[in-house]
Formats: sequence, C-alpha cells, structure tokens
Amino acid sequence: MADIFLQEALEIVKAQASVRSMSEEEIVQMVRSLSQTLSGLSGEPLPPDTDSEAVPKNKGIKNASVTCLECGKSFKLLTKKHLASHGLTAAEYREKWGIKRKTALTCKALQKTRREKMKEMQLWKKKGKSAASKKAEARG
Ligand SMILES: [Zn+2]
Repeated sequence: MADIFLQEALEIVKAQASVRSMSEEEIVQMVRSLSQTLSGLSGEPLPPDTDSEAVPKNKGIKNASVTCLECGKSFKLLTKKHLASHGLTAAEYREKWGIKRKTALTCKALQKTRREKMKEMQLWKKKGKSAASKKAEARG
C-alpha cells in the first residue's frame, strides 16, 4: 500500500476526529478502510496517451462494420490493401491505434462467423484424437 494513500486517509480521519470523538479502534479502522478505498480508486490504470479520446474505445470495430481510423470509412473488414493505401501494414495500423495484436480488423459479426468456422474446422481435425483431449478442449 502506498504511503500517499495512508497519509491521505490519516488527514481525513484527523478531520473527522476533530469534529467528533472517536475511539482509537475506530480511528485505526477508519484509516485502514479509507486508505484501502483510496488506493483502490486509483488502481485503475489510466490511458497512456493524452489524445486517446479521439480514438473510440472499440477502435472502430463494431458489430456490423469496422471503421478505418485513418480515413473514417466503414468496411466489413480492413484489408491489407486498404491499409496499404494509407501507407500502413496491419501491424503498423494496430500499433498506431493501440489495437491488440490478436484483434482481428474485421467487424464483430464476421469475427463470430470466422470463429464458428474455425471451431468447425478444429472439430474435424480433432476427430481422430482421443475423447479426453476433446473434453479438455471443450472446457477451455
Ligand atoms: Zn482508410
């Protein structure tokens, strides 16, 4: 726990103790819970860059479309060809806009279809394997 939160909590409790009588136990408990609350509040990581407000949280990836953050046009999927028209590769585009490497640059509906197709394919592939490994797969 960072000292800054403890100090802040102490200040608050001191102010409280000056306006009403508190037992030692009360004070200790209040400091503890306050400092926990304070440190919890600031536990949220802040966005790293200042102009992140300009970038939508979903990075332009919506259910039925994915918006190119370079030109604002919407597509079913962002093709390499399109990104190349901005002088970017898919990797560079992701890096530029803070998109995770694993995130597909396709609309969510298409991602879902792809996932299902992939699952189907994997089921076919795994048909030869033992039932035990199939069970493990289903769990994960
Ligand atoms: Zn574009």
